[in-house]
Amino acid sequence: MSFVQVQCSRCKTVFRDNARRLQDGYSRQCPCCEVVMFFAEDSPNPQVKLAMKRARRVRKELHEAAAAKASASPSKLGLGRRFAGRRQQPEQEEQED
Ligand SMILES: [Zn+2]
Repeated sequence: MSFVQVQCSRCKTVFRDNARRLQDGYSRQCPCCEVVMFFAEDSPNPQVKLAMKRARRVRKELHEAAAAKASASPSKLGLGRRFAGRRQQPEQEEQED
């Protein structure tokens, strides 16, 4: 999927996290030194700010790609009509007078 790189502020390990999750209020542990990194818009950590900026851009691109795909979706009419397997069997009671 869409991942962005994040650099740990303590051990400098670079790891990846899902752009969809990297939003204000999100936190995760570094896989190497297990320090918890908090992702906030007003974070003093330049690595966090950079990661959030990248994540925001990726999310925007995803959103635009999804919108483009939706508007360009081919008509479903060309796929052929399926005959409904519905059989109508009117109950005809033969009545003899
Ligand atoms: Zn670390």
